[in-house]
Amino acid sequence: MSDTHSRRVVYDVAVIGAGVIGSAAAYHIIKKGVKVVLIEQFDVGHTRGSSHGGSRITRHLYNTDYYTKMTIEAFPLWEQVEKESGITVYSKTGLGRCAPKHSETLSSIIASMHRCGLPISVLDSKQMKQRCPHLNLPDSFECVYEEDAGILAASKAVTALQNVFIKNGGKLLDCHPITEIVPGDVVVLKSSSKQDIRAKNIVVTVGPWAKKVLKPLGLDLPLRTVRKEHLYWKITPLPDNDGRGFEVVIFADDDVSEGCYITPEFEYPGLVKVNYNTDDGGIEVDPDARDADTTNQKGVEETKKFITQYLLGISTAPSIVEPCILTKTPDNDFIIDKHPKYSNIMIGVGFSGHGFKLAPVVGKILCEMTMNLPLSYDILPFAINRFKPSDYYTHQGHTI
Ligand SMILES: Cc1cc2nc3c(=O)[nH]c(=O)nc-3n(C[C@H](O)[C@H](O)[C@H](O)COP(=O)(O)OP(=O)(O)OC[C@H]3O[C@@H](n4cnc5c(N)ncnc54)[C@H](O)[C@@H]3O)c2cc1C
Repeated sequence: MSDTHSRRVVYDVAVIGAGVIGSAAAYHIIKKGVKVVLIEQFDVGHTRGSSHGGSRITRHLYNTDYYTKMTIEAFPLWEQVEKESGITVYSKTGLGRCAPKHSETLSSIIASMHRCGLPISVLDSKQMKQRCPHLNLPDSFECVYEEDAGILAASKAVTALQNVFIKNGGKLLDCHPITEIVPGDVVVLKSSSKQDIRAKNIVVTVGPWAKKVLKPLGLDLPLRTVRKEHLYWKITPLPDNDGRGFEVVIFADDDVSEGCYITPEFEYPGLVKVNYNTDDGGIEVDPDARDADTTNQKGVEETKKFITQYLLGISTAPSIVEPCILTKTPDNDFIIDKHPKYSNIMIGVGFSGHGFKLAPVVGKILCEMTMNLPLSYDILPFAINRFKPSDYYTHQGHTI
């Protein structure tokens, strides 16, 4: 594209950030028949944000109705992406969420599933061990079990969304870092190394870079960027095992290995993913210097302890460690909203370690916001103004 041409083009929508959320937004918006560009600062397929890698868990099991309701639409939407792209994204595995009997977490999940009319069963530890012989569950545990839960092939899913976007006439620009956003009826997106881009509406889905990108627009959102690792461990068949391995298993309770989870052999045959998922297992990082300090081994150490206590036939040293960044809000709820001052700037950030499965639904909401359509979901839980204004307004850059 020549410089003169780029100055003339005004897109209807520019989406900044081609992770799973931005790609899902672009996927929906292009289907409205408008002119859309999806802009990514790095090469597509990079591994520096939040959406790369072999797998993410998908499930209906949530303890909050507004997420449970979104999961109901997420499954068929992923299926549609598979059909349109020809890429397999979802693998059904089943999922057990385990905790000591009568835990508050399990009770609230069961209640939400019932309220939303979704099927689940409750298994005792013996029944769960029959499904997953590598589990060493105490008898005092029980599990909420969901048949339909499974795994999404993460990087492939992002490619699938982008391929459909391009097939429908969308433009994907990679290696194009946006360094300044100039608001206006036509927003100008500046880049120190590439030509400016102009668009009537923009969608900011920049994952861990949200603070850096939004601060000059007067928004300093209360977000923390935390480096986490996907840890893969060798699995050895157990004697007398008829080939059963793992389904997805999540341990969830305030006092027992909060958030430890296991996913079956999938992206690396012979290895299972076992991760420790609490705040203090990761370290806060600058996304532009994610690997500057890799000395924090807390996540690995906690996972080793968990493996020793609750699993059988799993090595106690990880074979593969793949870093990834979570962008956390104080309440772990997403941020999906318009910029408080500029109504043509949509924001979808802060997915707090559980956004992948819901990306097609979040993308649909961002599309509806952009096109000024009625919203399919109540986005009050995701509104920026749930935080105290003093926690997100800044006097830097453009004042609000
Ligand atoms: C270890 C780990 C395990 C997880 N497990 C699960 C799970 O099991 N289930 C689940 O549902 N979720 C899970 N998640 C969360 C999920 O992966 C994230 O919520 C999701 O990937 C967030 O995507 P995103 O598009 O917001 O961010 P990203 O994927 O980081 O995308 C943002 C993109 O914006 C680009 N960008 C930033 N700044 C600019 C700029 N100035 N100009 C142009 N481009 C820019 C970045 O390069 C990046 O590509 C997990 C996350 C991690 C880290």
